[in-house]
Amino acid sequence: MLEEADKSLLFLEAGNENYPDETPFVVIVRSQDHLNRWLRASSPFLQWIQVEQLLDEKDAWAEAAQVPGDIPLDIILSEPCREFSDLYRLADVAAVRDVRISMPPATGFFKAVRLGASLGLPIRLLPLQPSPETLRELSETLDFYLHDPMVEAPIEFFHSTLAWMRGAQVGSLWTIFEDDPDVFVLLGVNEPHGPPNAEDFPRGFVSGWLEKLLHNGAECANCPWQTLCQGHFKWPDPTYSCDGVKRLFAVLRSADDDIGLDLSAFEAQTPLLGSQVP
Ligand code: SF4
Repeated sequence: MLEEADKSLLFLEAGNENYPDETPFVVIVRSQDHLNRWLRASSPFLQWIQVEQLLDEKDAWAEAAQVPGDIPLDIILSEPCREFSDLYRLADVAAVRDVRISMPPATGFFKAVRLGASLGLPIRLLPLQPSPETLRELSETLDFYLHDPMVEAPIEFFHSTLAWMRGAQVGSLWTIFEDDPDVFVLLGVNEPHGPPNAEDFPRGFVSGWLEKLLHNGAECANCPWQTLCQGHFKWPDPTYSCDGVKRLFAVLRSADDDIGLDLSAFEAQTPLLGSQVP
């Protein structure tokens, strides 16, 4: 969502009295009252509204669907397997403003991905060192993202990784997951699925983390995805084995190769197509 990734972006609780008047910020809402207030906010520095613990509040979404606006919503699903059936409430809201859903890939999350994709919503997965079971579901989700015609909006982190393989400047996985403390700064909130807390993760954390991994002989040293990943999957446990994660990257690389071949074939055909034009 943040287009100018060189800027700091503050994450603040909706109940705060004061809000930045010079710095881009995200407000975190957890009540219907706060949601109603911020849906009508007009601050030019408000980038998006992060909504937590409200998906089961039917009235909140009926109200939100009546308030068109330019400020996007990022809906956090803490338990996607349980909450997925409430996603249909976002269909009318998505008609009046941009809506994204974000979720940890907890067991059963694929049901939420499928329903979110069928509603045309962008999806952000937030995997922290996925278990073998989660990796199986991530692999199923990746196949869905790559091959199912129902998917029209991005599913992250797959989408940006593929874009990186195609040469796009997407930053590192730390920025794709929106938890690089140099950009995403969490102030005074306890956010399990958001960026790391500013007090524990100072600026420069990512480069320092990778440096430490390399110094300690982590497998990142010879990893083909190091430029993009920057040691993200070694956090918080540096002994985590990345075999499963690397298989996901390899599937994306294969898809990238296929895209390259398709583009080459198309370009080879283009002069022929052009010569048919009178
Ligand atoms: S995928 Fe794993 S080994 Fe490779 S750079 Fe990332 S954390 Fe390091």
